[in-house]
Amino acid sequence: MEYPSRTIEAAVEAFAKLPSIGRKSALRLVLHLLKAQPEDAHRLAQAIVALKEDTRRCEVCHNIAEERLCGVCLNTRRNPNLICVVEDIRDLLAIERTGHYTGTYHVLEGLISPLDGIGPGQLNVESLLRRLAAAPASEVILALNARMEGETTAFYLARKIGAELPQIKISSLARGVSVGGELEYADELTLSRSLLHRVPYASFQNPNNGMG
Ligand SMILES: [Zn+2]
Repeated sequence: MEYPSRTIEAAVEAFAKLPSIGRKSALRLVLHLLKAQPEDAHRLAQAIVALKEDTRRCEVCHNIAEERLCGVCLNTRRNPNLICVVEDIRDLLAIERTGHYTGTYHVLEGLISPLDGIGPGQLNVESLLRRLAAAPASEVILALNARMEGETTAFYLARKIGAELPQIKISSLARGVSVGGELEYADELTLSRSLLHRVPYASFQNPNNGMG
C-alpha cells in the first residue's frame, strides 16, 4: 500500500504489529489519531511508554507490579499459604474478577510444551520451587487449562512439589464444573465454583495431599 508520508507508514506499521490489528485497521487508527486533539495523542503515547518503563514483574509471583512486589503479594489480607499457579496474567485477572479468591498466585508465563520446545526451564518453575522451599504453603492450586500443555505442566509440578515438599496439599480446578478451555473465557460464576470445589490433584501420586 502507498502511504502519503513516511510518518504515516511508520505509525501504520507499528499499529499493525498489535494482535488482531490488520493494516486496514491500523490505517484507520492512525487517521483517527491525526484528527484527534494533540493532548489525546500525547496521553496515548505516554500510556504506552509508561507500560514498558513503569511496570515490572513481581519478584515473588511474577504478576505485573510497579514496585518489587505486586498488589496481591503486598496485601496483608491475602493468604500467603494458598498459592494458585496460573499460566499467565490473563488467567490471574480472570480469577481476580471472581472476587472470591483470597490467596496469592504464581504466574508461570507459559506452559510446558515439548512440541514447541518449551520446557520447565523456560517457565517460572524454579522460582515456585524456591518460594515453596523457603516458606512452604499449605496448598498449591494448579489452575491450568485442560488442554494437553496444561495437563503436562500440572503433572510435572505435582510430581516435583510432591517429591520435594510432600506436606503441601496440591489441588486442581474441579473438572465437574470444568472451564473446558481457556480460563480467561470462563464466566466468573463457573470459575468461582471451579475454585471453590477444587479437588486434590491425582492423590495416587502423593498420599498426603488430601483436601482435609
Ligand atoms: Zn506478587
